[in-house]
Amino acid sequence: MYNRKSEKATEFIDDQEVLDTIAYAKENKSNRELIDNILERARDCKGVSHREAAVLLECDLDDENEKMMSLAMEIKQKFYGNRIVMFAPLYLSNYCINGCVYCPYHHKNKSIPRKKLSQEEIAREVIALQDMGHKRLALETGEDPINNPIEYILESIKTIYSIKHKNGSIRRVNVNIAATTVENYSKLKDAGIGTYILFQETYNKKSYEELHPTGPKHDYAYHTEAMDRAMEGGIDDVGVGVLFGLNMYRYDFVGLLMHAEHLEAAKGVGPHTISVPRIRPADDINPDEFTDGISDDIFAKIITVLRIAVPYTGIIVSTRESKKTRERVLKLGVSQVSGGSRTSVGGYDEPEPEDEKTAQFDVDDRRTLDEVVNWLLSCGYIPSFCTACYREGRTGDRFMKLVKSGQIVNCCQPNALMTLKEYLEDYASEDTKKKGEVTIANEIPRITNEKVRAIALEHLRELNDGKRDFRF
Ligand code: SF4
Ligand code: SF4
Repeated sequence: MYNRKSEKATEFIDDQEVLDTIAYAKENKSNRELIDNILERARDCKGVSHREAAVLLECDLDDENEKMMSLAMEIKQKFYGNRIVMFAPLYLSNYCINGCVYCPYHHKNKSIPRKKLSQEEIAREVIALQDMGHKRLALETGEDPINNPIEYILESIKTIYSIKHKNGSIRRVNVNIAATTVENYSKLKDAGIGTYILFQETYNKKSYEELHPTGPKHDYAYHTEAMDRAMEGGIDDVGVGVLFGLNMYRYDFVGLLMHAEHLEAAKGVGPHTISVPRIRPADDINPDEFTDGISDDIFAKIITVLRIAVPYTGIIVSTRESKKTRERVLKLGVSQVSGGSRTSVGGYDEPEPEDEKTAQFDVDDRRTLDEVVNWLLSCGYIPSFCTACYREGRTGDRFMKLVKSGQIVNCCQPNALMTLKEYLEDYASEDTKKKGEVTIANEIPRITNEKVRAIALEHLRELNDGKRDFRF
């Protein structure tokens, strides 16, 4: 029985409710009156329900789809302006005891070399990432209590925060590790992580169990209820996502929104971010074997409707996607992208030799961070290296209140410009620097609060003089 407040996975992601929602969406895919009504209400930027979102996703009326896209762009502009937050993944270890059939790190894969970074290697990776200009990392690791125990993750976080190379520093470490206990989540909280990220992969229990035939991840309930435990452990910024292409995209789309509604109803705060990865080739993995892959058009529509359904939640697209696709979906609602990523264990300090490939998936966008920053500037965006919120204690419901009221823009806009300026001073190529300075000059007048604008201008001058790390 569907109950979004329930603590039980099969009740807040009730299979029948997902199926009924999909059927309702199909019945109403050409219901102009209903679709118009949903879009009209969505203009208030308060989001729409999973049922309404499913109708929008299914809609087959060209003019309504056009309206939908314009609305997504408007909402994106209102909450995020033209700022795009930058990050990079750092893979610590590919030891894993799970049997996920879509991931090359599954324990039966004997052809992939197994690697785990030592603290010295992590320090070298972090210096390389800092030298690129990164300030925000997403830590990734396989599940293996012997090789990757929680103590290893905690020590690695400590190492990462301790490295200060030239003007560099990693200021926010988001963590993507397997579902764990409340006690371990509290330890991650105490270690000062930003967001705890865990992808559901698929919300369909039957498919989930088939795709995860062995290992602790096989337990659908334990995995699906992980965010509730993370929040109990004190982590109030969580990032959800599915791996599109594993199961019927409609089911996963509805499940994703039901999960967001559950967290909001049961814990008072929805997800901080939603990631929308699609399956990619990798060692031992052929994406063609997954017959539920989604086209670029459906991918763009999913992002459009997510932007409308959860306006206050960041949407992340990684280098799994090509430059062309990223350009298309940035407009529609994406607010965070990775750049210059390596999806192997290590690989930033020294590229991996061909015969030692440990990548979790092949990246499509292989450009350097500077090339990505340059491209974003050319497309009219402000690449932002901001990490201010959790450092200022703006997390969980405190953060959501500021986002929902639209006040967060008074922090995001100046922080984006100041962190971009840092990047330009310390890491940018000449051409990127030129473009970035023009962007900063054009964007300063758009800080509407006079006092904030004056302080930001003062800090930009100080950044010119070599001072660093200002934030609102
Ligand atoms: Fe392990 Fe994660 Fe890969 Fe599954 S997806 S095999 S848990 S690393
Ligand atoms: Fe993100 Fe907060 Fe920075 Fe805005 S001010 S970009 S919400 S960290």
